[in-house]
This record gives sequence, C-alpha cells and structure tokens, in this order.
Amino acid sequence: MTAGGCAVRPGHAPAQFHMLTTGYARRTDNDGGWVAASASVLLREGQQVVVTDPGGNADTLLAALALQQVMPEDVTTVFLTHGHIDHIVNLSLFPSAVVCDGFVTARGDRLIPCNGLLPGTTMRLLETPGHCAEHYALVAETQIGRVAVAGDLFWWEDDAPPQAGGAGSTALSSHIELAPEALIGLPDTIATDPAALAASRRALLALEPRWIVPGHGGVIRVA
Ligand SMILES: [Zn+2]
Repeated sequence: MTAGGCAVRPGHAPAQFHMLTTGYARRTDNDGGWVAASASVLLREGQQVVVTDPGGNADTLLAALALQQVMPEDVTTVFLTHGHIDHIVNLSLFPSAVVCDGFVTARGDRLIPCNGLLPGTTMRLLETPGHCAEHYALVAETQIGRVAVAGDLFWWEDDAPPQAGGAGSTALSSHIELAPEALIGLPDTIATDPAALAASRRALLALEPRWIVPGHGGVIRVA
C-alpha cells in the first residue's frame, strides 16, 4: 500500500486517459477581462465516458472529441472541478450526461451524493478548497499512471508559466516537470483562501499522482 492507497483493482483495467484541450488564461488589454478556458480531459473506464471541465471553447472541444471518435451523446458523465464560468460554459453540449461536482451527481434535478468516487468508476474525488470554497480534484489510475485532474488547484497565466525543472518525452506530447515543493508554492492570484489552497495541494500530492492536469497551463509531471 502506497501513500496514495491501492492502484488499479485486481482484474480492473486502468482508465484510458486522453487530453482533449489544454487550458489557457490571458488577460485582455483594455476591458479588465480574460480569454480563458479550462483544460478538458477524456477518461474512459468500463462503460463510462467521462469529460472533465468542458470549458468554453466549443469548437476546440468538439474537434478533440471527434478525433477520439466520441460524439457528445456518448459522454456519460461530466465532472466539474468547480463552478467558475471558464470551466462550465460547454456543459450544454452534453445534455444526456450526468454532471458531477465532486459532492453530488446530478441527473436533472435528482442529486445523489458521490461519497468520494465518480459514479460507475474507480476514480477518486478529493475535496480541494482554496482557489474557491467548493472545489474537487479527480484522481484516476490510467494507462500512463496515476493522473490528477486538478482544476484550478494549480493554474497559471499564459505569460507567467512556472519554472520547469526539466522536460521529457512521454505519452503526452509536452509537459513540464515540477517538484512537489514548487507545486505547493505556485501563485494563485485569485485564490479565496491561500492557507486552504496549500493544504489542498499537500493532500493531493500525498496521493502521489504521476501527472497533474492543471486548470490552465501545460500538463505537469510530478518530479
Ligand atoms: Zn479556471
């Protein structure tokens, strides 16, 4: 048993992980606004087809799904790390999916507690407040190892990427490598509770993810 608990259950195939879109965030010059959309990930486990944080760029998301031969109506579950608008605009693309915010899963107006697991899967849900009060991360055992879909527990603006500790070639086309201490210290200019944010980051890192998908910015390999 590692610090992160057991990995894939005996006889249980790992989830298939695929990056759909990389998140981005940049401020606009003249109106105090942003151009921003969240990272979105496709995870397939058993009969479940999961899209995380569908973001706000419909064209990019639909094209990425089509490349994976996934139609919007094939998606069974949309997982939302939190309710900020740059993560949820495209929710309407998936009218047949149930929606999970980490705390409950909604099918229409029926709300069912999650109790720490994404319904129908072995994917864990970890409460991670700090960026905002209601925020969850998803942790999945996948074909590339343990992946944390972290939402805005980690994020950065396009022109302020963290210092990379080294990069390599992997199943992912590109990534940056960061040590846990660097991850815990990443700035979050809009966090509502910095102390809670740091505690949430430590809790997620204690699960020893190999990969972290931040809300905005490139995929992180944990050094
Ligand atoms: Zn965001």
